[in-house]
This record gives sequence, structure tokens and C-alpha cells, in this order.
Amino acid sequence: MDAEIVLSADRIVARYDGIEALHGVSLSVKRGQIVALLGANGAGKSTTLRTLSGLVAASSGNVRFLGEDITKVPAHRLPHRGLVHVPEGRRIFGDMTIKENLDLGSFTLADDVERRRRLEHVFELFPILARRQNGDARNLSGGEQQMLAIGRALMAAPKVLLLDEPSMGLAPQLIKEVMNIVQRLNREGVTILLVEQNSKVALKFADYGYVLKAGRIVLEGPGSDLASNEAVISAYLGGVAA
Ligand code: ATP
Repeated sequence: MDAEIVLSADRIVARYDGIEALHGVSLSVKRGQIVALLGANGAGKSTTLRTLSGLVAASSGNVRFLGEDITKVPAHRLPHRGLVHVPEGRRIFGDMTIKENLDLGSFTLADDVERRRRLEHVFELFPILARRQNGDARNLSGGEQQMLAIGRALMAAPKVLLLDEPSMGLAPQLIKEVMNIVQRLNREGVTILLVEQNSKVALKFADYGYVLKAGRIVLEGPGSDLASNEAVISAYLGGVAA
């Protein structure tokens, strides 16, 4: 039997100041999958994630999450339901400690035992965050800040994680480490929608992929099919795939 679709966009249109950035994007993510959303600079990848997580309002079309229409649900209500967005650029709070940044991910949770359990899980995944939990987040390297951003998202116990370019600005060894964590989270049951400009990295892990170009999906298929179709992808991505 096919896995259940947990997150989907149906012909979403999104605008910035009246200018259309997404022209009717449809995609779906099934439970347990890693789905990659690929595309060159400005193709609309981040806008698609923002529309899914309610940060940008869809001017038409629908977003569904766990069987419900969430198109008009305010962004701040979605983490609580299990849809958590790790934005591009990490957005950590540099003048707060690592522990305080992590606590922000679970501030609506009243259950201290559960919060402690989640924190232990994050510290087990990212021992560096445990060692430096009382230090200011600004002193972390780019890779460590990415780990903190993912760790903070995990404090909300996501069912579906929207990850915007976790590899951005990282050295190859760190990209590998971050992607290994992404894969481990997926094995632990978290469904993942991964935005990447680096299609080689993303398709190594993705069950399914979509390629966006100028606000439209122009190609989709199982990750392995897309990976073996690098020529087509690099044509759409303007050479970024290589
Ligand atoms: P990148 O990897 O560069 O972030 P992307 O594929 O994520 O690219 P988006 O950031 O979603 O692309 O951008 C899609 C289009 O929307 C682009 O034309 C971009 O200039 C425009 N855009 C994105 N954010 C804004 C904004 N806050 N205000 C106005 N226009 C925006």
C-alpha cells in the first residue's frame, strides 16, 4: 500500500508586493520520505517552504498537512502541530546561549520531563551543543549554527521538517555530517522536505525530488531517477548540479 501523503501543496500561487513568485506549485510528501526540492537561485524554493509553513500567504491554492487544510493557519501554530521550518540562514539568536536557543524551540511545551527528554536527544545527536550549552550562540561556527538550528527545530518534536539549504556555506566534511544527521532523523520517523541548490548532495538521500524553475515545477521523479539524470537537472539548474 502507498504511504500516506502528510504534506501537500495544490497549485499554490505566492506573491511578493504583487509580483508573482510561485505560479501554481503542486507537490506532495509521503510519510517517512526525504523529498528534495531543487532549483537554481531565485527559482522559488524558499518561497515554497515559506508558503507551506504559513510565513508567506498563498494567494491561491491549498496546503494540506496531516489531512487538514492549513492554508490559512497562522505560521506560529504549525510547529505545535508537527510542521517545523528551519529557515535559510539559520536565524539563531547570537546573544543568547545555546541552551536558551534550544529552549525557544519548545517554549509552548508545559511538560518539563518531555522537554528534558527532547533536549537529551538533541545533545546526543549534537554533542558539541551539549558541551557548549552555556556559551553564546554567536561563537559557534557556521556548521555548528546549522546544527543548533536543526536542534531547535527538533525541540518542537516535528513530524515533518522543512529544511532550507542546510548545506549552505559548509565545507564538504560538515555537509556530510549534517546530511548524516538528516538521514538519521528520517530513520527515527521524521519526514523531511529538503531544499537544496546542491542537487548532488540532496539526491544522494532523497526518495523523491522536484525541480523548480522560475516559480514552476519543471521536473519530478524518484531521487534515483533524477540522480541518474544529471544532464537534465543541470540544464534546469543552470549548471549548479555538477
Ligand atoms: P535562493 O536559493 O537564492 O534563496 P530560491 O529558489 O529559494 O533561491 P526564492 O528565495 O524563493 O528562491 O525567490 C523566488 C523569487 O521571489 C525570486 O525572484 C526572488 O527575488 C523573489 N523574492 C524572494 N523573497 C522575496 C522578498 N522577501 N521580497 C520580494 N521578493 C522576494
